[in-house]
Amino acid sequence: TQVFLARIGRHQALNAFVTVSEELALQQAEAADRRLAAGTPAPLTGIPIAQKDIFCTQGVKTSCGSKMLDNFIAPYDATAVERFNQAGAVMLGKLNMDEFAMGSSNETSFYGPARNPWDTERVPGGSSGGSAVAVAARLTPAATGTDTGGSIRQPAALCGITGLKPTYGRVSRYGMIAYASSLDQGGPMARSAEDAALLMQVMAGFDGKDSTSVDQPVPDYSAGLNDSLQGLKIGLPKQFFSPELDSQIAATIQSAIAEYQKLGATVQEVDMPNLELAIPAYYVIASAECSSNLSRYDGVRFGYRCQNPADLTDLYIRSRGEAFGAEVKRRILMGTYALSAGYYDAYYLKAQQVRRLISDDFKRALSEVDVLMGPVTPSTAFKIGSKTDDPIQMYLEDIYTIAINLAGLPAMSIPAGFIAGLPVGLHIIGNYFGEAKLLNVGHRYQ
Ligand code: GLN
Repeated sequence: TQVFLARIGRHQALNAFVTVSEELALQQAEAADRRLAAGTPAPLTGIPIAQKDIFCTQGVKTSCGSKMLDNFIAPYDATAVERFNQAGAVMLGKLNMDEFAMGSSNETSFYGPARNPWDTERVPGGSSGGSAVAVAARLTPAATGTDTGGSIRQPAALCGITGLKPTYGRVSRYGMIAYASSLDQGGPMARSAEDAALLMQVMAGFDGKDSTSVDQPVPDYSAGLNDSLQGLKIGLPKQFFSPELDSQIAATIQSAIAEYQKLGATVQEVDMPNLELAIPAYYVIASAECSSNLSRYDGVRFGYRCQNPADLTDLYIRSRGEAFGAEVKRRILMGTYALSAGYYDAYYLKAQQVRRLISDDFKRALSEVDVLMGPVTPSTAFKIGSKTDDPIQMYLEDIYTIAINLAGLPAMSIPAGFIAGLPVGLHIIGNYFGEAKLLNVGHRYQ
């Protein structure tokens, strides 16, 4: 814990942490020492981890990357946090992220962007940018992230680490600040699939406090890591390898897939004709859900409140107007529009129908193969500031990741190689509750 706290102090310029909970970490580390001395260790006793600042932590600020919650100290722990505490882990602090998890570069954070340790002029990806930076720069052995449309996998890919987005319902969302509730899912970000398996073991499982948590037994995620991949059927969605895919990214992915063939896997093309509809469907659904979820920030109950409001309407308008950033406002406006009377059928309902078509594409493909593979991102890490003026360009960052959230499937990004010194991720997509298989496939490559 002391080594990591010192490293965090030395690398503040990376802006990975919003809060470093040094005092708490040292207390937890001492408690871990006592537990070890007593001979009663829990699975992660004394292992430092850091939490994305979207998970509520009792007594430690939870900002969600926003001015709105810059003064917010949750009165309770998120279930994921509570589970890490029970497992004996030590919390180093809370990690930088895009505001309310809306973004793909960590640039919408109220605290400024975290910086990619491979080139500090470049973004780390987002929204779990701080998590990816902290793991990649060895400021923490592991971290949590959340993934609504790619926010675990895309930053993991751009920072050269391993990130797993579990099946929707596998990890409790209780105490994880809501962005788009039907898509949000928490998961591990770590150096390797092996480490991600250890974190998944703690994070996964039924929670009665989350109405969409699935009551299904949690397998031993480490048990099958070394299983043979002889006969593994890999599907390559034709739409992922279209001519628009950057040729160097394509070559890196192809060579990773060739490694799997050497391990005994077979490869076949699969057709998923509705994939191209994923981005528009996602931005309708995610914006609609966020406009509803973010209505709770009214300046009254918690969070930012404007000075000297003239009346209640002024209080609402100025509190929200002053505390939300531009991207969050854009999403709330789009979502409110899509949900307004008379437009519901044209937008939200239509997007939900498209969502079903996309799920059906995956169902069909995954009935033929064991896993799907492809790129995670259309490019390597881009320069800070280069896409901030163009939301559409930024939304296209998630072109390979978003469909997976619409379908609720598990998927991971593992380090596949480098282009000009910048990491490239390999995307591995599995069937519902197939996290153990994904970890096995990820581990055998590494
Ligand atoms: N970049 C996507 C968005 O801005 C996904 C973010 C996420 O997964 N939280 O909505």
